[in-house]
Amino acid sequence: MTTVKRHQVVIIGSGFGGLKAARSLKHADVDVTLISRTTTHLFQPLLYQVATGILSEGEIAPTTRLVLRDQKNVRVRLGEVEGIDLQAKTVTSRLMSQETVTPYDSLIVAAGAQQSYFGNDHFATFAPGMKTIDDALELRGRILGAFEAAEVVTDHAERERRLTFVVVGAGPTGVELAGQIAELAERTLAGAFRSIRPEDCRVILLDAAPAVLPPMGRKLGLKAQKRLERLGVEIQLNAMVTNVDYMGITVKDKDKDKDKDKDGSERRIECACKVWSAGVQASPLGELIAEQSDGSQIDRAGRVIVEPDLTVKGHPYVFVVGDLMAVPDVPGMAQGAIQGAAYATDIIKRALAGQDDPANREPFKYWDKGSMATVSRFDAVAQVPIPKTSKKLEFGGPLAWLAWLVLHLVYLVGYKNRLTTLVTWFITFLGRGRGQMAITSQMIYARTAMQALQSRQGPLAAVEAADKIEKDESA
Ligand SMILES: Cc1cc2nc3c(=O)[nH]c(=O)nc-3n(C[C@H](O)[C@H](O)[C@H](O)COP(=O)(O)OP(=O)(O)OC[C@H]3O[C@@H](n4cnc5c(N)ncnc54)[C@H](O)[C@@H]3O)c2cc1C
Repeated sequence: MTTVKRHQVVIIGSGFGGLKAARSLKHADVDVTLISRTTTHLFQPLLYQVATGILSEGEIAPTTRLVLRDQKNVRVRLGEVEGIDLQAKTVTSRLMSQETVTPYDSLIVAAGAQQSYFGNDHFATFAPGMKTIDDALELRGRILGAFEAAEVVTDHAERERRLTFVVVGAGPTGVELAGQIAELAERTLAGAFRSIRPEDCRVILLDAAPAVLPPMGRKLGLKAQKRLERLGVEIQLNAMVTNVDYMGITVKDKDKDKDKDKDGSERRIECACKVWSAGVQASPLGELIAEQSDGSQIDRAGRVIVEPDLTVKGHPYVFVVGDLMAVPDVPGMAQGAIQGAAYATDIIKRALAGQDDPANREPFKYWDKGSMATVSRFDAVAQVPIPKTSKKLEFGGPLAWLAWLVLHLVYLVGYKNRLTTLVTWFITFLGRGRGQMAITSQMIYARTAMQALQSRQGPLAAVEAADKIEKDESA
């Protein structure tokens, strides 16, 4: 008896794009293998709440294989994708020393983007970004650790340095994080220390651009700026970071002609806790695919300039979706990834039904559902397109915050997570307390310790070292 092999779909990534793709294929006559370097699906928009002690990591990052447990046509495989061979139609992934080669008929690449330091990768040691659970937990450790250190140091200048927080990048993530650090100090930590007043800390939001929230326009940017300033956040615009070190950051002010205090020379901000939320760089898998295609290119951020049907040239069943794709007027937001994944899986389903003609596909159309950013509790700014016009409705305040709250609950994965998040928000925003204030030394030191080891001994050094210690101990 011969068994006919089903159509094999490989999905890379378990973020918004990857998970949506897998779920959309639930009733399709295919075998799906979802490969990701993380065991979880991460709801990145709420990472800043993990970093500031509001939510736990579990609430925003459910385990992918549990989310997909009942979808029998999906196999979830943990591993770092290191190779994609468009000719052989295989994906090579690695988990520790185990290499796995997975063949595919259709490939959906949703590997997202990483933090970009614009060529200054050494900044990352002192100013972690906020892209992963590890990042958010490390930041929580650094933020709360800075208050603890300030309580015990006796030198005045060092105490001030410990109580200065700098967030680089005034996009939505920077705005949300700066607002939350200020609220954490003002509401949650106030009165809990004896040598310092946490509410006297300095929170600086800094950007090389001349405005806060540039993609949301001048009006909403100014609104957010005023509200942050009311919370005590210092906004420094036209300020370019030229160096980051253990003690602080060096900044060059750009508009020397407009402001006599800003003469274009460099200045220092001594600060212990720095956060980088200034730029993104697409996964290197984008370049790997583009190089093997029949002429697709990548843009400056490393995103693949895809065809109108989200494929790469010469490979009608290799789709790139989400933050890794470059499509005009589609922002690097969750909706871009979700809609891109739905579009790609529709094509695969049509192909299975014999209804797909790659040369005559309807191009991908993005439905802009708007954008929003929270500034503080009960306060957000929102921009929603008005149907059938090119205009956008812009508003701020409690109504925008309520809209933000409802939308985020809708898109969180899992009923239990929605319920616990709602209860947590209720407690946090109405009261002063935050439930996730625990920090460990692992959160603060593990990344830098692992990086130091890896830079000396190679990428698997940390794993090998841990294995060796265990073996030696048991011998
Ligand atoms: C802090 C923050 C706040 C945000 N806030 C908002 C918001 O409020 N609203 C909004 O719409 N958008 C927001 N975004 C953007 C949104 O999260 C992204 O646009 C969205 O996650 C993109 O989805 P994706 O599937 O393309 O990539 P991701 O969600 O980033 O997923 C990428 C996946 O690929 C995996 N991966 C990467 N490389 C490899 C590899 N080599 N091997 C195996 N697996 C790999 C990763 O583990 C991950 O699972 C925010 C982003 C951040 C970082």
